[in-house]
Amino acid sequence: MVKTPLLPGATLGVMGGGQLGRMFVHAAQQAGYFTAVLDPDADSPAGRVSHHHVHADYLDSDGLARLSRLADAITTEFENVPARALASLAGDVPVAPGAEAVSIAQDRIREKAHFVRCGVACAPYAVIETAEQLAAVDENLLPGILKTASLGYDGKGQQGVATRGELGAAWAAAGQVPCVLEKRLDLDFECSVIVARGQDGSAVHYRPQRNLHRGGILAVTEAHEEAVPAEQAARAVEAALAIAHGIHYVGVLCVEFFVLKDGSLVVNEMAPRPHNSGHYTIDACDLSQFDLQVRTLAGLPLVTPRQHSPAVMLNLLGELWLTQGAKPVEPDWPSVLALPGTQLHLYGKLDARAGRKMGHLNITSPTVAELRQTAQKAAALLGLPSPFAA
Ligand code: ADP
Ligand code: MG
Repeated sequence: MVKTPLLPGATLGVMGGGQLGRMFVHAAQQAGYFTAVLDPDADSPAGRVSHHHVHADYLDSDGLARLSRLADAITTEFENVPARALASLAGDVPVAPGAEAVSIAQDRIREKAHFVRCGVACAPYAVIETAEQLAAVDENLLPGILKTASLGYDGKGQQGVATRGELGAAWAAAGQVPCVLEKRLDLDFECSVIVARGQDGSAVHYRPQRNLHRGGILAVTEAHEEAVPAEQAARAVEAALAIAHGIHYVGVLCVEFFVLKDGSLVVNEMAPRPHNSGHYTIDACDLSQFDLQVRTLAGLPLVTPRQHSPAVMLNLLGELWLTQGAKPVEPDWPSVLALPGTQLHLYGKLDARAGRKMGHLNITSPTVAELRQTAQKAAALLGLPSPFAA
């Protein structure tokens, strides 16, 4: 990473053109930077708003060379950007987070080993890379969830398994690729912590937020002082910082946790980038997670972000556009936006598909009671289930 700060006027590059890249581009441009996005899709959400858009595959050497010529520093928004693409860029230009940190986060086996090394408990698990390891799996891990070691997201690459027979069938269905079998835990709730760590090793973080998933996809994030009890919040922050420091991470890192029915906290996974559960920071904090991503990449000072309002984020998935058959219909935004404290964020995706993240609605209020009322109303207007029930 850069030793002296990159000042506005420089060009910040990002690998990946999805919504996270788009919000990074918005934050970078607001601060006076030029931006360059590499993404194979000509209509990518970030590519459409960036000063430069390199249409190329993540491993295309010409494309990577073009990006490194355009950009003074490069970050990533897409967890599955091949780590070797980042490693090759790093030969020409500062890259953060680095290829090593990203490759650990891309591989559940290495990721869990890192958590264990940092002294942070994760769900009991077994690595399954061979038929011998499959046969030797401890019965106590069942019922469990078989997760492919790489390339999973939004619950993809995961299969619930109750018996040894199901486990064998699930591993076969996964193509016998490296997997982890995780014990299915009795969750009270989920939360995450977003950390930003600079090149100098200093780190700042947001208060942990509470996350509700439906069908393996984040549905709701709640962020305020009552969302996560103080004791678990303190433990989650401590664990997230240990995980970030343990890999000398530079950039924005999100660490996801499970809180179990007995009150204990276990780490689930980490994402080497801003995270869907941090989108509320755009409207509820003085610095958003994307502002912090810009600062870590440019080597600008990190200061602790201050949340000025309790917030709820509702994820807006493609289903919301598909209520009247196959032809997409725009949801009734005017009714939703008539509620005080609502802010609509849409990612400019051209076609709505079930499960596709199209945007999110941020809701802020002066009080938690008011916030919850408004969130309930917004969800009802959108035809979503109550944001506070699983
Ligand atoms: P992804 O990469 O798709 O986000 P996760 O491992 O975070 O994968 O799993 C997605 C969701 O599935 C989690 O947020 C949680 O709701 C549920 N889940 C995953 N692992 C477990 C587990 N071991 N026990 C109970 N629920 C789990
Ligand atoms: Mg997850």
